[in-house]
Formats: sequence, C-alpha cells, structure tokens
Amino acid sequence: MEEIRRLLLRWYDRHRRDLPWRKTRDPYRIWLSEVMLQQTQVRTVLPYYKKFLARFPTLESFARARLDEVLALWSGMGYYNRIRNMHRAAGLVLEEGGEFPRDLQDARRLPGVGRYTAGAVLSIAFGQRQPVVDGNVLRVLARLYKLRGRPHSSRFQDRIWKKAEALVPRRRPGDFNQALMELGATVCTPASPACGRCPLEEQCLARRAGIQEKIPPPLQRRAPGVLHVAAALVRRPGQVLLVRHQDGGVPKGFWQLPSSPCHAAAGSRKALERLVSRWGGRVREKLFSLEHVTTMRRIVFHVFRAEAPKFRPAAVGGQWVSPDQLEHLPHSASLIKILTRACSI
Ligand code: SF4
Repeated sequence: MEEIRRLLLRWYDRHRRDLPWRKTRDPYRIWLSEVMLQQTQVRTVLPYYKKFLARFPTLESFARARLDEVLALWSGMGYYNRIRNMHRAAGLVLEEGGEFPRDLQDARRLPGVGRYTAGAVLSIAFGQRQPVVDGNVLRVLARLYKLRGRPHSSRFQDRIWKKAEALVPRRRPGDFNQALMELGATVCTPASPACGRCPLEEQCLARRAGIQEKIPPPLQRRAPGVLHVAAALVRRPGQVLLVRHQDGGVPKGFWQLPSSPCHAAAGSRKALERLVSRWGGRVREKLFSLEHVTTMRRIVFHVFRAEAPKFRPAAVGGQWVSPDQLEHLPHSASLIKILTRACSI
C-alpha cells in the first residue's frame, strides 16, 4: 500500500495538468471546481470557472448573489440543480459564519454535498485524511484490485469506498485523491488504458490478468426519450422575443423562445398556432428543425418564424432580448444553438 501511494504521488508531481483549482487551498474555490467537474469535462469547466470567480471571488459574494445571476453565468453547463444546491448551501454556510464545515457529517448535511464532494473539499482544502470516489477513481481501483461487479450496485460501491479509505495517506491526502482522479482521467481511461505509461502497472491485478479493459463492465444506458418542441422565433431589429420557461424542454425559470411541446414534426405548426394566436400573432414559415441531446433525453425543436405585432411581452412574463442582455439571463445551451442557426438564415 505504501508503495502504491509513493508511486502515485511521484507520478502526480511530474505529470499533473496545470489546473487553476490546484493552485488554491480556498475551500470555496475547491468546492466550486468539484461541483463544476461533476458530469462535465475539464476543458468545458475552465472558462466557466474563470468567469465565476471573476464575478464571485468569495463564498460571501456568491452566497449573496441572486440565483438568477448565478444561473445566467452557469448557462450552457447543464445539470442546473448542481449550482442551485451549491447556492443554497453557500447561503447556509454564510449564516453559520462563512466557513465551510470541517466536520464530514456537517459538510454532508449541506444541500448537494455528498460523500464525494465533502471528501474532496476536506482533503484538498484542509488536508484531512478523507477518501473520494468518483467515476475515475472507481475505475482505477476496480482495475488495480481486480474487483468485479456492477459499478452502480451498493455492494460494489462499498468495496471501492473501503479500498479508497484504506489507501488515502495521512500525508498529502488531497494530492493523493487528485492523483487517483488524474490517473483515471488521463491514463487509466475507460477504453484502452495506457498501462505502459501507468505508475501502478506492476501493482495492477487487472493488468497482470490482461483483463483491464473488461473492468469495470460498461454501464447499460437506456436510450434517451425524445421530446418534440415547437418554437416561435419572433424578431425585431437586434432583439428576439423570449419568455420564461413554459413547457418546452428547458429547466424551470430559464428563458426560451415561446414554445409548446408537440407529438412530432407533423403537429408542430398546430401546437404553435394555438399559443401564438392567443397573442393575436401568426405563425409564418418553418425555418428548421434542430436536435439537442442531453443525457436524459433528445429534444427536437421545430422552429418557425412568427409575428406578433400586438403582443405585449410583459403580459406573459416575456421580454425583448438583445445578445448582450442574454448573457445576464438564465438560458440553456439549446437556445444558443437555435439562435446561432437562426442568424445564419
Ligand atoms: S496498469 Fe493499466 S489498468 Fe491498471 S491502473 Fe494502470 S492504466 Fe489502469
């Protein structure tokens, strides 16, 4: 075990990527990076991390910000409950004096802070001997110890957490945890792990048995369901009409084109006509259909040009929005895709 720790830390010191959250011990900044990195790749996170810290450099500034402002900055990253929870949790931390809890159980009582996030913040920011297990660590440890089983079963997870707990050293626990994650992200990748470059090649039981690519077994994912949405593009010079989330495939409270769910492309015009006629408007020609895929579902937007000269946006909680204003409103990546496509027509 001591040898594994030594080899891994030495490898980390030489090969780790230069990432901004590795240059700080500020629990807020580490917490933010961990929340952002859940379900999102490093290269996507980097510009968001920079933007966030420029606007909210401290936990206090973040906790005191309006949720709308926070969501606007997060727009495009998806999994919006992550940041809703962190914002709520930061408010609670501020009420309790502004310090991220140093006790594991206290940290885990915060909204959205599970065993992984608590372990990451406590080990990296405070140097506590706490393990972490994310998808990368799970894969590395499953291979290292040749553990078989369904990765999401609680029995398997328990075994992995126990291994992680036993391995994490007293000295440099935060670096050790990050080293395991880094190894999983850059060397011990799901398909074709680069065992020839791995510091643990000699210790790895799966490698010795030649079954590293079979461990852990791939997840059986269900194909995402399909949602069809009819959307109205209503424009005036330099602005587009947006309404706050109605029913059309975006998170609650987000801004979108006036939209209506429909059964398929065939029913899209009718669905939109019902909506737009309520404002005395008319649906014109169909512009395009566009697909947006999330892990949960595939959304097909059928976008029509529409006119609504008598429409008063405020009456239905809508507004005319310019590209500059859009930056300050929560919106999903699908809206940017639609507007970019619309601009090219
Ligand atoms: S030897 Fe190969 S399978 Fe084992 S931990 Fe290293 S990269 Fe992963």
